[in-house]
Formats: sequence, C-alpha cells, structure tokens
Amino acid sequence: MTNFEYFNPTNYVFGKGQIEKLSSLLPENKKILLAYGGGSIFKNGIYDQVKKQLAGKSVIEFGGIEPNPRFETLMKAVAIIRENEIGFVLAVGGGSVIDGVKFISGAVNFEGDPIEILRKRILFTDSSKTIPFGTILTIPATGSEMNSGAVVTIEATQEKLTLGGKALFPQFSICDPTVIQSLPKRQLQNGVVDAFTHVMEQYLTYSHDALLQDRIAESILQTLVEIGPDVVENPTDYKLASNFMWCATMALNGLIQKGVPTDWATHMIGHELTALYEIDHARTLAIIAPNLYKAVFETKKDKLAQYGKRVWNLSGTDEEVALAAIEKTSAFLKLMGMPLTLSEAAENYENTAEIVVERFENRGWKALGERQQITIAKVKEIVEMSY
Ligand code: NAP
Ligand code: FE
Repeated sequence: MTNFEYFNPTNYVFGKGQIEKLSSLLPENKKILLAYGGGSIFKNGIYDQVKKQLAGKSVIEFGGIEPNPRFETLMKAVAIIRENEIGFVLAVGGGSVIDGVKFISGAVNFEGDPIEILRKRILFTDSSKTIPFGTILTIPATGSEMNSGAVVTIEATQEKLTLGGKALFPQFSICDPTVIQSLPKRQLQNGVVDAFTHVMEQYLTYSHDALLQDRIAESILQTLVEIGPDVVENPTDYKLASNFMWCATMALNGLIQKGVPTDWATHMIGHELTALYEIDHARTLAIIAPNLYKAVFETKKDKLAQYGKRVWNLSGTDEEVALAAIEKTSAFLKLMGMPLTLSEAAENYENTAEIVVERFENRGWKALGERQQITIAKVKEIVEMSY
C-alpha cells in the first residue's frame, strides 16, 4: 500500500427527513446564496423544505445552473457574491449544482482571470480564501457531496475541465434518499452508472497489496449490480434508495482511492464527448469504458480477472474470466439503459477521435491511465472503437 493522508472534513448528514437539520447547520450571521439548477426543486417540494429552514436568514437566490455547469453562468453568481458580501453558499441539486458551487467558492477571491482556474487546473488549498458552502443532494451519482473535485464547462470553447483542492470540500451535505423519488428514470440510470464507473476508475488498474481497498471497491460494485436495475424501477423503495445514495457517495469520497493506483482515463475521454455533443456524463462513460478495457487489456488483465471472479462469480482461466468480465460489464451497462456506442448518442461524430487527440495535445496531455499506458495513440484507438 502506498502512503496516504485521508482528509475529509464534510459533515455527512444522511437519511429520511434530515433536511430539517439545515437551519442548525448554517452559519449564524452570514448572508447566504441559495444556488440551484433548472427548477426541479420547485416541483418536488425540496425548495419548500429548504425555504422553511432559511426563515429569518438573509438569502439571495441564484437559479439556472445547468447540467454540466457553465463557466459563463457561474461567473454571474460570483458577481452577485462580490456585490452583496455573501459569506456562505447553499447548493441544492446534483453534481452539476454542487460542482458549480465549488467553482464559485474558489473564484470569488481568485486573484487573476477565473478562467485560469480551469485552464491551469488551479488547486485550492487555503480555506481562508474560498467561500464556505454546504449542499443538499438531490441525485446520487457523482460523490461531489463528499469530495473536493468539480467539473465545469467553458461554453465559448466547448471544453469541460476539472478543478479541485482540499479547500473545496462541502462543510456539510444533507443526503436524504427520499429525494430520488422525483428523478426521471434516465437520471436514476445515469447515477448508478456514474457511481459504478467511479469505483472502476479506482479499482480496475493493476494488482497491488491494498487488500481492504479492493474489498471495499468490490462490495460497492456488487451492491450497485444488486440494486441498480431495481432502484431505477422502484425509487420509492427506501432500502434501495438509501443503499444507492450511500454507494454513490462511497464511490467517490476519497476513501477507496487511498493507497492505490487510479486510472480516470474513461472520465477524461468522456468529458470530451459531453463537451462536444452534450451527451449525459454517465452515458459517455458507458460508451468509453468497455472499449478502454479492451484496448489496454494486457495491462488490466490481472485486475479484470479478479473483478470477474469476485464481482461476477465467473470461473475459468484468468484470460477467459478477464474477457468475460468485460462482456458482463457491457451487459450491465446496457441493462441500465446506457448506449454502448457513440452512434447511439450523437450525430456527425466521425471526426471525434481526431478532435479529442488535438485537444489533448493542445493541453500538453501525453498519456493517461494508472501506468500512463493510455497514450494519445491509444486514446484515438479507444474513441474509434466506440463509434
Ligand atoms: P445533474 O447534472 O446535477 O442533474 C441532472 C438532471 O437531473 C438535471 O436536469 C436536474 O434538474 C435533475 N434532477 C436532479 N435532482 C432531481 C430530483 N430530485 N428530481 C428531479 N430531477 C432532478 O446530475 P449529476 O449526474 O449529479 O451531475 C453531473 C455532473 O457532475 C456532470 O457535469 C459531471 O461531469 C459531474 N461529475 C462530477 C464529479 C465530482 O466528483 N465532482 C464526478 C462525476 C461527475 P435541475 O437542474 O432542475 O436540478
Ligand atoms: Fe463521474
């Protein structure tokens, strides 16, 4: 196991009815910006629950943070915070609203052009310079409620870029599994697949000696395989909903990545597909992941075999199990309603591989993956395989 520090300051408040604790979690004398997305919170009653808790506080509302939040939109919130001396932001929404608020939190006091935060991948490490924020999660998927990373799209150049740093953890996150009842099936499916892929990015690398990390990762994968198909049909079932929400958080709250190698190439390539064609985040992962496993099969073979045996109960030689495990993964993604090819999700995609390669080269990215084995040539191959 490699050395690590595990720092996670988010107060994770989980369960039915927990939004009632909101007022006790908010700071006493600070002006609050209430940030939300496209308005789903008005239809499912979450806005009313939140407003009740905000009674007596000075609040400015900022709605309209879009899925795959836009830099251009977020900068409007930054201006409002600067003009109104706001001292705390409350994000009510999914990964997009929470990620957007992380950007806002860092951008308010950023010295320089805030677009550099994305272009130069600025790390925020000083929490005296960021604006504190809390979240009310409305969709289990990203883990953003308990991590310090975010992804933001620059609309002008159609680029989707990451930011983060230990000053960008939410102060608290209220995670009530009953909020998933109003989610459309497509978003429930996306959530399961995003969480599943987060685990795979941190697990499906090479064999190592961090035994517990593998076992935790495998149990999250197994739980998602067990509940995924049912929770999208029965989101009112609390057993399914609560396990789904906790799995999604555990998949990316930093725990399973400690002491182990990580990949993240599926996400980095997937972000380009969202930036270019506005394909839902999870759907891009389903299009890329199985092809990536095939393209770098030799370097992931040992772990694929372990995954096949432990998560899918397959038997045979390591080679056979590793290959069958990829097929099982594709079948699961399909069962979860995912497209497995770009042609199912976009039009006029024939030059995608060239565009992705050009973008990676322009950013100076030479290779991805746990061994930097996913070279630019491999990236091109993987994208072409997914047409
Ligand atoms: P999302 O983009 O936040 O939300 C997707 C859609 O679901 C929106 O239209 C939203 O509507 C709706 N919605 C959310 N909660 C709902 C509810 N309870 N009932 C009805 N509709 C609801 O989805 P997400 O998958 O959580 O976030 C995706 C983003 O996170 C992507 O940009 C992705 O790249 C990023 N991401 C971040 C991380 C990380 O660690 N930070 C990891 C992976 C992915 P409203 O707009 O009305 O809310
Ligand atoms: Fe993701």
